[in-house]
Amino acid sequence: MDTRTTNRLITPTSIMWKTVAEDCNLACDYCYYSTCGGKPQNEIRRIDDKLLERVVRQMMHHCEGQVSFAWQGGEPLLAGLAFFQRVVQLQALYALPNTTISNAVQTNGTLIDEHWAAFFRRYSMLIGVSVDGPEEIHNKRRRTGSGKGSYRRVMAGIDALKQAGVDFNILTVIHEDNVGQAAILMDWLADNQFQHVQFIPCMHFSAQDVDAKGQYRISPQQYGQFLCTAFDRWYNDGQPAISVRLFDNWLQKLMGSEPELCVHQQECPSVLVLEQNGDAYPCDFFIDERFRLGNANEDTLAQLLEEQRWSMFRSLQLRKSSSCETCKYLHYCGGGCPRNRTDLLKGNDRAHVDYFCESYRMLYAYGEERMRKLAHEWMAQQGIELPGRNERCICGSGRKTKKCCTAR
Ligand code: SF4
Ligand code: SF4
Repeated sequence: MDTRTTNRLITPTSIMWKTVAEDCNLACDYCYYSTCGGKPQNEIRRIDDKLLERVVRQMMHHCEGQVSFAWQGGEPLLAGLAFFQRVVQLQALYALPNTTISNAVQTNGTLIDEHWAAFFRRYSMLIGVSVDGPEEIHNKRRRTGSGKGSYRRVMAGIDALKQAGVDFNILTVIHEDNVGQAAILMDWLADNQFQHVQFIPCMHFSAQDVDAKGQYRISPQQYGQFLCTAFDRWYNDGQPAISVRLFDNWLQKLMGSEPELCVHQQECPSVLVLEQNGDAYPCDFFIDERFRLGNANEDTLAQLLEEQRWSMFRSLQLRKSSSCETCKYLHYCGGGCPRNRTDLLKGNDRAHVDYFCESYRMLYAYGEERMRKLAHEWMAQQGIELPGRNERCICGSGRKTKKCCTAR
């Protein structure tokens, strides 16, 4: 069936909502979204209460037992504690029986104090805090509007989270100043007892200008070397002690689960991205009129989720490059992110791979043997055997060869 011509509904269980538009109290020099230079207006542009209630109510009726909200910015905590108290109040009001509700907040960490931490703990919110590594690295790029480094304020916020027992993870952007410092970064994570980290290679582009070529501050080779060194530390003689999302996703894939990282899924996931004003998009890298699904003030959730409105976006990742189609790592990699494929929007579909393709290939070639060994051991502990090279797939991914996707 050609889904582009039907009115089938996408059924997302996730909304990512830009809570305060572009307002942010930091002016990180690589930010692809905020343009306020770390100096938000006095009146923060938080989500209007009527819109909040309308979307939460519809989402609760639309979801089937599980729903997650990701609150992003700008800096979402600028919305204030009262805003988030209203969020959980509305979620409780409209949730159908037996609904699991998750809330995640992505923050720069500078505003977290004991009141925020107690609130996050009470409602079991998962907090992502952006830190780029040790103080001298972090402060080069993550500065206030007046140019001061933000490291100490961020670490004070993290201490408040630790004190309150809040679940949090660290997001680290990899750029010119830390791409050659993988071992130092991994040591810093361990020294600070950070258990979960996600690395994000720095891409300097505007989400609102999807035709502009991405500008990348690190080369694919630099990022590939970074991943290989970080992998050595992560592997830790077969006893990983820190969760690195990319490596964990790879291991999960070998053990039969789909990766959580959208970049390495076979198709972009169905996450509804809302701007603070209700404009809806399928991804926050594509904030452009051509990809706009509608506006949550005027359109119902069901209308925003009509499959045909998503078709242009969906088609991007389905148009894999010819290199991906024959790549022995496609089952790990998924083909990467369409935003990193130069000229994809100009219709030059097949010629370009993800800018970081070589980084992924370096990592997979370097770590595959050890990763497969780890997967074998972990599955054996659970009483499941990983198939040999010529045996049938057990992961249920339905690949054409019917051989296990991990057995090439
Ligand atoms: S376009 Fe890229 S960032 Fe957006 S959902 Fe797809 S893989 Fe993820
Ligand atoms: S490693 Fe490169 S060629 Fe292979 S699937 Fe990923 S992006 Fe495509």
